[in-house]
Amino acid sequence: MVLSEQGDSYKPKPLCIVCGDQFSKEAMKPSKLLRHMYAKHLGVKDKSLEYFERKKREHEGQKKFMRATTSIKERML
Ligand SMILES: [Zn+2]
Repeated sequence: MVLSEQGDSYKPKPLCIVCGDQFSKEAMKPSKLLRHMYAKHLGVKDKSLEYFERKKREHEGQKKFMRATTSIKERML
């Protein structure tokens, strides 16, 4: 719920959608994620699921925009 995948399909980089911090595979463990949330985003835990959904959509929207501009450039070449 907190994580978004970024990067190419071969090396997906998990990141915190709240602060954008990237996590190592080691940090993907739920206990480490919880520690990150409590250490850095103590206020966020009270936010509704909608907040996270919106954050996730923002990230996905940016990715779609990037992809759209890339395909436009390709068509112009
Ligand atoms: Zn974070």
